Amino acid sequence: MKTIWNHRSGLIEFAEQPEPALQSADDVKIKVIYSTIGIQDLRLKRQWDFYSKEGIAGYEMAGIIVATGSSAQKAGWQVGQPVSGTVVQFCGKCPACKQQQEQNCMQLRVKSGTLCPYIVWKTDQLVHLPANVSLATGCLLEPVAVVKMAYDKLQVNDADRICIFGGDFNGLILLQLIKRYTQAVVVVVENKTENKLLAQKFGADQIIDPLTDNLATELLKRSDFIGFNKTVLTTSKYPALISVAINTTARGGLFLTTVYFDRQQSIAVNSIKFFAMNLTIMSSFLYTKKVLHQTATLLAQLDLNSLIRREFSFSAALNAYKVEQEQLYPRIGIRVNDPDQLT
Ligand SMILES: [Zn+2]
Repeated sequence: MKTIWNHRSGLIEFAEQPEPALQSADDVKIKVIYSTIGIQDLRLKRQWDFYSKEGIAGYEMAGIIVATGSSAQKAGWQVGQPVSGTVVQFCGKCPACKQQQEQNCMQLRVKSGTLCPYIVWKTDQLVHLPANVSLATGCLLEPVAVVKMAYDKLQVNDADRICIFGGDFNGLILLQLIKRYTQAVVVVVENKTENKLLAQKFGADQIIDPLTDNLATELLKRSDFIGFNKTVLTTSKYPALISVAINTTARGGLFLTTVYFDRQQSIAVNSIKFFAMNLTIMSSFLYTKKVLHQTATLLAQLDLNSLIRREFSFSAALNAYKVEQEQLYPRIGIRVNDPDQLT
């Protein structure tokens, strides 16, 4: 079968690979109908990155089950069902997994990617898609789960004043979650026109350009010189935003990052300020299995269609990568297979 292959060198091209087959009782074979690529796929080019690996590209998919192993079938996975899931496989045996804190799994593995006509995944990587969720929307289960996990950690309440640094996919989903479930005030720091329009649509109270002179002062002004009690970094484009975000976090506030930078980049904060301000610094990486499954019912409540700004056929997927380099769109859709041809 034809796949999009990611070489160690960063080169992405079509490559012929054997079609995968069921190998164990808990395997499920899926015909991939829809996949998406986003900025995170560019990390394939970063050699130091723990996510970087040689193999089939793509992290996100929705598809239809075409074959199941015997135990998978007993567990309710049936041919014809629509599914999404995660390319990450948690070990299930380490102390973190046993405590249902799979995001801290000590032996998690990133399995073969999703930009190919067929994949074989384990049942514990899969999530059933509800009937009211399209395959294009369902494809975004995994990245939305990443944001839901961060949202849960933020414990947002109606009185919160929040600043989200970055209005790409993660920032825009977080904005939607906050505005849907709380009365919190949200300022978004973003400069791309498309993303600013989306932030406006999703109810951002203010949008500020990250390249504004004296950004930190500007943000303090907008928070009555108190600072925001929650600041969230969701873009890895500007490392300088780490200190801006921490410096604009109010006394007793929380700084959370969903991104990381290169090996040399530290998160530095003056120790007296950190101590005297009662700050909490937190990261959010991946999700628990529980959050991944909860996200399936959340999908229909969010505006995800607006985030897939371009769509390409599988045969044009290399062009999609070129377009993605420009980092203009939260997500780009790839139609991998025709859903009406299920064999
Ligand atoms: Zn584990």
